[in-house]
Amino acid sequence: MNCKEYFRATLIALVSTLMCWTCQPMTEQSVDFEVAQDIGEPYCIVLGIAQDAGYPQASCEKACCSAVWKGEASAKMVSCLGIVDPLSQKVWMLDATPDFREQWQDLKDCLTSSKAQPDGVLLTHAHIGHYTGLMQLGREVMGAQQAPVYVMPRLDSFLRQNGPWSQLVDLENIKLQPIAADTTFALNDRLSVKVLEVPHRDEYSETVGYQVSGPNKSFLFIPDIDKWERWERSLAGELAAVDYAFLDATFFADGELPNRDMSKIPHPFVTETMDALQDLPSDQRRKVHFIHLNHTNPLLQEGSAAQKEVKDRGFQVAIEGQKLSL
Ligand SMILES: [Zn+2]
Ligand SMILES: [Zn+2]
Ligand SMILES: [Zn+2]
Repeated sequence: MNCKEYFRATLIALVSTLMCWTCQPMTEQSVDFEVAQDIGEPYCIVLGIAQDAGYPQASCEKACCSAVWKGEASAKMVSCLGIVDPLSQKVWMLDATPDFREQWQDLKDCLTSSKAQPDGVLLTHAHIGHYTGLMQLGREVMGAQQAPVYVMPRLDSFLRQNGPWSQLVDLENIKLQPIAADTTFALNDRLSVKVLEVPHRDEYSETVGYQVSGPNKSFLFIPDIDKWERWERSLAGELAAVDYAFLDATFFADGELPNRDMSKIPHPFVTETMDALQDLPSDQRRKVHFIHLNHTNPLLQEGSAAQKEVKDRGFQVAIEGQKLSL
C-alpha cells in the first residue's frame, strides 16, 4: 500500500467509524450498536467473550486454537461486561476475569477522566474465569481502596476465608457488598441491578446472573448455567423483560468434546437455546448475544457453518468492543 492508498483507507475507516456512532442504523444488526454518547446515556460494553480458560486455551494443539497460536486468527478474552455511565464518569465490571488487566484498561478508555479503580465489580460465581481477576486489585498491583465487590453469601465467605482473596478483604483493597437472590440494588440513581440465582456447579459459591437496567434499556447476563430447564424461571419470560441478553454459549452442540462425558459439565448447547427460542418473534431472538465460548466452540471460527446458522436463525454472537445503550 503506498502513501496515498494508506491515507484513503484511513479516511474510509474514520468515516465508517463516525457513521457507526452517529447515524441511524443502516442494517438490522447494527441497531444494537447505537449508543448516543453525545447525550451521556449509560451503556454496556463487551470486554470478553471466551469461556473461563480464554481463547486460545493453554496446551491446546488442535485446529481450534492453532491458528491463534500462530498469530493467524485473533485471540479472545474471557467473558466479561463493563457498564459505563458517562455523566457520572463511573464504571462497573460484571465479573473479574484472568484478563482483568486488559479489560480494566479497555473500560478505563471509555471515560474522559482518569480512574484508579472500578466503582464496583459484580461477581457471578467462584469459577476461575469469573473472580480471579480480583488479584489485580491487591497490593502487588493496583492497591485499590475499598473497591466495592458485590457477592452472594457463600462467595462472601469463600473470599474472606481463603487466601489470597482474604488479604484483599483484610487490607481493604476490596469491600464486599452482600447481595441476595431475587433482590434489586442500585448502582447509582439511574442504574439498577436485579440478582437472579441460576443452577450451576457450586463447589465454592452460588452462581447468579444479573439483569441490569438503565434509564432506557435493560439487559440480562447469564454466562454460566447448567441447563435452561433446570432453572426455576422461564428463559423466554426473562428475555421478554429485557432489551438484550448475553447468554451461556460454552458449547455449540453435543459431542464437541470427543473424549469427555458432556453431561458432567452441563451447559445449554447453543443449538438447544436456539431450539427453545426458535418460535419467538424475530425481535425476541435478535436480543440474544451468545457469550462465554469454549475454545472448541465453532462460533469462534470466522466464517464457520455454526456462525452462519446462528445468524440465519436470527440470533447473535457477542463481539468484543460492542457497545449497547442502557
Ligand atoms: Zn465460566
Ligand atoms: Zn483449542
Ligand atoms: Zn462456572
